[in-house]
Amino acid sequence: MEIFTTVKELSNCLKSHKNEGKSIGFVPTMGALHKGHLSLLETARKENTITVSSIFVNPLQFNDKNDLEKYPRTLEGDIHLLKSAKCDVVFIPSVKEVYPVSEISEEGKAGSNPGLDLGTLDKVMEGKYRPGHFQGVCTVVKRLFDIVKPDNAYFGEKDFQQLAVIKHMVKILGLRVTIRSCPTLRESDGLAMSSRNVLLSPDQRRNASLIFKTLQEVSKKIKKLPPDDLQKWVKEKIDVNPFLQLEYFEIVDPETLLPVISFADKKNLRACIAVKAGAVRLIDNISL
Ligand code: AMP
Repeated sequence: MEIFTTVKELSNCLKSHKNEGKSIGFVPTMGALHKGHLSLLETARKENTITVSSIFVNPLQFNDKNDLEKYPRTLEGDIHLLKSAKCDVVFIPSVKEVYPVSEISEEGKAGSNPGLDLGTLDKVMEGKYRPGHFQGVCTVVKRLFDIVKPDNAYFGEKDFQQLAVIKHMVKILGLRVTIRSCPTLRESDGLAMSSRNVLLSPDQRRNASLIFKTLQEVSKKIKKLPPDDLQKWVKEKIDVNPFLQLEYFEIVDPETLLPVISFADKKNLRACIAVKAGAVRLIDNISL
C-alpha cells in the first residue's frame, strides 16, 4: 500500500495507473475507520483495478469547533486497517494541501466560495442543525475528486442526505465520476457503525441501540399511523430514555428529501433520524 501526503506525489502515482488503463475506485473518509468504511473499500476493490482511500478531517464541514476538536483520530490503526483491507493507495493530506491558503479562513470557513445551489437538499434535516455543513462537504469532495479523478466513488447510505447532496453536485457540475451507494453496516445490537460511537459512555452506548429499534418499529407502524402521529410517537419513544434526546425524525422522499405529508402512493420512502446522546450526535436512516 502506498501512502501519499501531497497532491503532487499522489497525482504522479495515479497518472501512471490511468495511463495503463486501470480504473480507480475512491473511498473518501475522515479516518477513525471501522467495518462500515471497510465495506465501502471492499466494494470498490471488486469494481475497480485500483482502490484509493483518503483520510482527511475536513474543517469546513464542522459547524461546531468543539466537535472538530473532539473528532476521533486513530491514524496508525487506520493505516493498519487499510493495509489489511488491501487498499492500494492512501492519501493523507494536511489542511493546507487540500485548501490553498487563500481558500480557507482562520476560523475554518470557506473564503470567497459562494457555494453550490443545492436547492432544498441542504436546508432540511442535517442542514437545519448544521448550517454550512453540506457546502463544506461539497467543497472537499469536489476537491478530492479533482485530485484523484476517480472512475467510481463510494459513499455510505448511513449518511443518506450526504449521498443525495453528492449525487446532486455531480449532476449539476457534470462531473465524470459514478457515485456508488453502499448499505449501512451495524453493530450486533443494530446501532449504525460510526466513528463517533467511541465517544459514547457505556450507558449511552447501551441505550443508543434504541435508535435502530425505533426505526424498525416505524417500518411496522407506517401503514397504521399518519406521518404526524408517527413523528410524535418517535419523539416520545426516544425522549423517554434518559440518555437520548431526539433532534429530528422525518419521513422523506428519497430524492428531494422533503417530508411526506401522506404515505399514499409513495415508494422507497426514507425514515431519517438524528439523536443526541450527551454531546454526541448520532444519525441513522432506513428505507421503508
Ligand atoms: P466518514 O469517515 O464518517 O466521513 O465516512 C466515510 C464514508 O463511510 C461515508 O461515505 C460514510 O457514509 C461511510 N460510512 C460511515 N459509516 C458507515 C456505516 N456504518 N456503514 C456504511 N458506510 C458507512
